Amino acid sequence: MDSDTNAARHADLARQALLPDEELVDATHASVDHILKAAADHGVTLTGPLRRRSGRQTRTPGAFALDDFIIDWDNQQVTCPNGKISRNWRERPGSRSTLPIVQVTFRLPDCASCPDRSRCTRSAVNARDLTFRPRPQFEALHRLRAEQATTA
Ligand code: SF4
Repeated sequence: MDSDTNAARHADLARQALLPDEELVDATHASVDHILKAAADHGVTLTGPLRRRSGRQTRTPGAFALDDFIIDWDNQQVTCPNGKISRNWRERPGSRSTLPIVQVTFRLPDCASCPDRSRCTRSAVNARDLTFRPRPQFEALHRLRAEQATTA
């Protein structure tokens, strides 16, 4: 089963009135986008292990990863671990080849004088930036990862 065919397969099963309530898939077929789409389009609960977080900050002990930042979705701002507020918020809608994302950047004067700069960015000249999924995907990802961290 190819994850790209999830939607077509569910549509086919729906035509035959054979849709399952729940479907178990492996890691190559589980993504937050597919899980949300299966639930929204057909009410199917797609269950499978999500891929691990990646990124240098996530792998480096002591580094500030995305979870260390506070996202204010309503005001489209992010607060960093040092209490600084982001300066911009850009949303890029998804296309056939790209997923929708949010890009946020902090102010250079804040980052240049930050005592925790080495924990935040490897850049010698630029401010910290962040890229993350839009709210529905972001919150679903956190909920699913929390669920998958339980023994059940
Ligand atoms: S480098 Fe910038 S974003 Fe990172 S903690 Fe310091 S002020 Fe905040």
